[in-house]
Amino acid sequence: MEDIFESEYKVVLEAENLIQAKVFASAKDEDHYKNLLHSYKRLLRQMRTMVRMSDIMQSKLNTMSGELEKLSQTDALTGLYNRRFFNEIYQKEWQSATDRGTALGTMMIDIDYFKIYNDTFGHLAGDVCLQKIADSIAGTVKDNDAFVARFGGEEFILLMPDADLEKCTGIAQRIMDDLAALNIPGAIKTPDGKITVSIGIGMMSPTMDSKLETLVNMADQALYRAKKDGRNCWRI
Ligand code: GH3
Ligand code: MG
Ligand code: MG
Repeated sequence: MEDIFESEYKVVLEAENLIQAKVFASAKDEDHYKNLLHSYKRLLRQMRTMVRMSDIMQSKLNTMSGELEKLSQTDALTGLYNRRFFNEIYQKEWQSATDRGTALGTMMIDIDYFKIYNDTFGHLAGDVCLQKIADSIAGTVKDNDAFVARFGGEEFILLMPDADLEKCTGIAQRIMDDLAALNIPGAIKTPDGKITVSIGIGMMSPTMDSKLETLVNMADQALYRAKKDGRNCWRI
């Protein structure tokens, strides 16, 4: 590593050589020079310590700002990305899909009968259930190029760049299958008695004229149909 005080240490070396060579006219001059050199060396040491401390502070600040950034992007309960960060990613992916002329898929996932679940088992059990479902969804999509966030309450949202309909419906079905495999007992007598989700899928290739909210609205309307059609299913 480069020593930023290299030239100052050269000065010290030169001064020490002068003292050794006894170039001073009087002992008084030599003492005076030695004292000056002593102060100069002390100052250098102090400077070095300050630089080292500032390096440590800088690296601590870098770590903290990284952690803070991660916190500001994350939903505290589920550990998924939060809606604020989703909106950021959504805008970026929207722009990129518009520029490249590619399709953007989105999926709105809503837990079925979750109010009754809370009313029956309590809000804390509801929280645990939300965490399990979030983990399950994250696990299902982790090998896909999909971005998953908690949209709010008991709703999650998925964004899939470069997606086609077959891929989207495949992921939706796998999300439902993986959740079913967890066998979380539901609060009411659904056909298989388990916690389920309904999913609405939207897909479009945005152009300069498209509105950002259109895609999410599409998924929302599809979700509404999935609920109307009896829940525990996906609709496009
Ligand atoms: P549907 O099948 O039509 O979606 O019915 P639902 O009961 O799931 O929908 P509704 O919108 O009536 O209720 C959503 C419930 O989700 C109500 C609310 O208490 C619960 N909920 C939202 N956020 C949280 C949370 O962070 N923790 C817990 N435990 N419950 C939550
Ligand atoms: Mg809901
Ligand atoms: Mg619900």
